[in-house]
Amino acid sequence: MKVCEVCGVREARVLQKHSRRALCAECFTADIVERVRGEVARYSMFSPSDRLLLALSGGKDSFVLMDVVKELHDVGRVGIVTVVEGIEGYNREEDLEWLKQSSRTYGIDINIVTLKDFVGYSLDEVVKLGSLRNLGVSPCTYCGVLRRRAINYVARVHGYDKVLTAHNLDDEVQTSLMNILRGDTARLIQNHPLSPTLSRYFVKRVKPLRKVYEWETSVYAYLKGFRFQGAECPYITSRPTLRAELRDYLYEVELSRPGTLLKVLEAVDSYVERVLLSKASQLPELPQCELCGSPTAYGRRLCATCDLLSRLGIVKAVPY
Ligand code: SF4
Ligand code: ZN
Ligand code: ZN
Repeated sequence: MKVCEVCGVREARVLQKHSRRALCAECFTADIVERVRGEVARYSMFSPSDRLLLALSGGKDSFVLMDVVKELHDVGRVGIVTVVEGIEGYNREEDLEWLKQSSRTYGIDINIVTLKDFVGYSLDEVVKLGSLRNLGVSPCTYCGVLRRRAINYVARVHGYDKVLTAHNLDDEVQTSLMNILRGDTARLIQNHPLSPTLSRYFVKRVKPLRKVYEWETSVYAYLKGFRFQGAECPYITSRPTLRAELRDYLYEVELSRPGTLLKVLEAVDSYVERVLLSKASQLPELPQCELCGSPTAYGRRLCATCDLLSRLGIVKAVPY
């Protein structure tokens, strides 16, 4: 039996390649909690008095976030929001039940929002309307914009101070490299944990798992015996190809040089902190959408939600 290199007592079950350590289940999960604690403190992601809203999809990362946050924060000040997009075959009743049951186990309130109620249309209906009109907008774009809107709305009306999402290190590195390859410095700044919130109507979003590898969230979920959403979204194949290409490439690099993803994100963070953040802090408050009053990007008449809906022939001021 190989013994854990941290406690020296229990059997090692996980080889953490980037730290070159063999760890037992307890030391591995404790390592994740401590790394998240460190990242939360480093960027002051939330303070003890904050009310936190966890935006969860029901996938493995959702359970890891819930489990880690209960170690770091008073669960009486934590809530969950989950958005049911209305995607046939993906939004399954039993997965929602499981998320509800888990939230009860942790003693955390859950808010369930369906896009059908919130916008008046399910995602499947929106996608169908878009293809009838030949808009060429990917389902993930509709999904991202509408889901984000619903989450911000729940956070605002229920008085939460921060929205926590379960993005992991792999997601973050892919997003950062996509922004760099597209030359999109505004988004590169927005994605940094210290980026300013440019409107009083937006609740700050933070990503506590941003330095935890995706394989680590899978192993954590497995070791803790979580059951999570198994169905794959049928629209996954329409995701931006650049992200899929980067994902494959980064997987290969990480395999031959363990620790690369962590180094890349550290480098991006430090570049944004040294060079770009000071410029972002001088930006004025975002202007308001002419249709619904929600904050919108500088120089834009309509917010992303109104823009997408009006292209679909839907005139509706969705709350924000
Ligand atoms: Fe939404 Fe795209 Fe994810 Fe499906 S794959 S849930 S459409 S973002
Ligand atoms: Zn150990
Ligand atoms: Zn609008």
